Amino acid sequence: MMKKWEGAFMEELEKNKRLSKNKQIIYDIFKEQPTKTFDVKQLIGFINAKEMTMSQRTVYRAVESLLEQNLIILNDIIDGHRKYELNKLDDFKLVCNNCGVKSLISISNKDKIYDLINKRYDFNISGAAIELLVSCPKTNCNKEYLNF
Ligand SMILES: [Zn+2]
Repeated sequence: MMKKWEGAFMEELEKNKRLSKNKQIIYDIFKEQPTKTFDVKQLIGFINAKEMTMSQRTVYRAVESLLEQNLIILNDIIDGHRKYELNKLDDFKLVCNNCGVKSLISISNKDKIYDLINKRYDFNISGAAIELLVSCPKTNCNKEYLNF
C-alpha cells in the first residue's frame, strides 16, 4: 500500500509534469512536427491556424519556460531570429541529401554515446537534435524538396 507521503510526492510529480494551457498548445506544435524548427512568428502562425490567439509576449514566455524545462532546444539563430526545435534525446533526425525527406529513428544505445561525451568533455547534456544526412531508399528520390 502507498504511504501518505508517497501519494503526496506522486501528486507533486504529476503537477510538475503538467503544463499550463498555453505551454501545452505550443509544446503540441513542436510534437506534431518533430523534425521542424520554428521561430516565435511561425509559432504564432500555427496558433492562429488553430483558431486561437496568444500575444507575442505570451508565446515568448511559454517558449522560455519550455526551454528551461528542456522540452525544446534552441536550434539556431538566423539573422537574430531564434529557431527552436523539439528536444529529441531519444531520436536521430534523418535528412535525405537529395530530396530533403525528413524522418526520425530511435536510438537504443544513446546512453552510451551521451556517457562518453559527458566523461570525455565533462559536458552535461540537456538536449539533442542530432541530424544525419542520408540517401533515402525512395525510387523516385530526386532534388525536389518534400516537406513533412
Ligand atoms: Zn531522398
